[in-house]
Amino acid sequence: MMVAGVCSVKPARGVAVRVDSGGDGTYIPCMSLAYLLLDLDKTVYPASSTLGREIDDRMTGFVARKLGVSEERAHEMRELNFPRFGSTIRWLMEEHGLEDPESFLQPTHPEDVAPFLAPDPRVRAAIESIPLPRSILTNAIVEHAERVLAFYGIRDLFERVFDLRFNVYRGKPDPAAYRRVLEAIGRSPEEVLFVDDYPVYLEPFRAMGGKVLLVSPEGASDLPRIGSILELPAWLERSSLVRA
Ligand SMILES: [Mg+2]
Repeated sequence: MMVAGVCSVKPARGVAVRVDSGGDGTYIPCMSLAYLLLDLDKTVYPASSTLGREIDDRMTGFVARKLGVSEERAHEMRELNFPRFGSTIRWLMEEHGLEDPESFLQPTHPEDVAPFLAPDPRVRAAIESIPLPRSILTNAIVEHAERVLAFYGIRDLFERVFDLRFNVYRGKPDPAAYRRVLEAIGRSPEEVLFVDDYPVYLEPFRAMGGKVLLVSPEGASDLPRIGSILELPAWLERSSLVRA
């Protein structure tokens, strides 16, 4: 594969080219792609893995203890406030006086990720086959990202890991987080494909002119989608964003 410098179909100004992205009729602007930004949790590893559930349960437990409510109620409150704040940590900081974000971040990310993940050499093969420079953009902490990347043996495939500290504890979906990362990698949004498992994290980047792709077993939005990271190389080829 090579990175496409121009589209195979030259569009009129402002016209998008229709591509086959799994039959969902997605339109993607025909421009060259120069960089890949990948989310970490439930994007690099599958949503079905127990790591995502473990982090989620730990966050719910933290909220239950902090607010003195049942875990069931804590879970409901997290779900309820997610659309408004975009993350549990923002909600706790803005509405419940959480002053030390590290006191939330450290214990909610397990120090040993191996019990929650299954080795899969296809993850490295898939990411390595994509002929673009890449970085991770996560709302977790860099230590957690490093553990997951080390588990899959893929740390060397990424230039940078942009974590929540890099984004001064105000990460996705705040547009400022995307702008900070774009500045750090020296790219315009149009040159970047951002891949994440949360539609609400993709939409602000798309609104900035960036290319986005949802990783999810279920298609519940109008966003272009793949079922797992293993499908990314084939999706890129089909989309004409990179050419064989
Ligand atoms: Mg994620």
